[in-house]
Amino acid sequence: LEANFSVIQEENGPINGLITVLHDVTEEEKIEQDRREFVANVSHELRTPLTTMKSYLEALEDGAIEDVELSRRFLGVTQNETERMIRLVNDLLQLSKIDSHDYRLTTDTIELRSFLELTLDRFEMLATDKNIIFNRKFSNKPIYVDIDQDKMTQVLDNIISNAMKYSPEGGTVRIRTLQQGENVRISIADQGMGIPRESQTKIFERFYRVDKARARSVGGTGLGLAIAKELVQAHGGHIWAQSEYGKGTTIFITLPYTVKEVKA
Ligand code: ADP
Repeated sequence: LEANFSVIQEENGPINGLITVLHDVTEEEKIEQDRREFVANVSHELRTPLTTMKSYLEALEDGAIEDVELSRRFLGVTQNETERMIRLVNDLLQLSKIDSHDYRLTTDTIELRSFLELTLDRFEMLATDKNIIFNRKFSNKPIYVDIDQDKMTQVLDNIISNAMKYSPEGGTVRIRTLQQGENVRISIADQGMGIPRESQTKIFERFYRVDKARARSVGGTGLGLAIAKELVQAHGGHIWAQSEYGKGTTIFITLPYTVKEVKA
């Protein structure tokens, strides 16, 4: 704690008072430390794909280029790394917009079930290689929510693609909705490796990964859930994870729902 004193005194007059301002230095230091850590993380995340690309390009230059098959493979690697960097920079730009409040939610009143069905249909079309089964169970009554469709699509995309990434071959991903008072709760549950208890809140932090090597090998940026959290909170909702290590993970989202007047 740091204290600043100011004396309140009219010119040459008597001292009328004393203002003491107490600063929480530890809070400021924490912000500064987080900022430094963030910059270090960004640098590291960019350097890794760059050094990989550099060594593959050097290998090509040193002769690998004569071998057609090898060249194709090496170019494939550099392509992947480029794509990863683009994803990373896009995620960083988005977070920076969120941090500077340089964006707005453009909300519409949406029927949640059809919105979720559309999102899942899209994933089902893609999900061919791992044979993931999407099991859907939605509450019967229509639920209306005021959401920015693009932003909420992004949130769901991040969560569903994680559920798929960390699922075993042929696994089931369960999607549910549940009405809870003023809120609707969406849950997305997978049968993957799970998340240790001490990491379950940390996964929403920027660049936090349970297993760095593995997360990179599946192409993640480490920012997906941090962005999801910001966007859900901007909608007045909450997001959290519940998981049993080794058995699977469930991500929960709550959103306040719009109460529609029903005309008789
Ligand atoms: P990434 O791009 O690494 O997936 P995220 O922010 O989306 O970044 O997730 C952060 C970390 O949380 C992941 O690296 C992973 O360790 C963990 N994680 C997220 N979703 C799941 C899941 N469904 N099952 C197991 N671990 C998960």
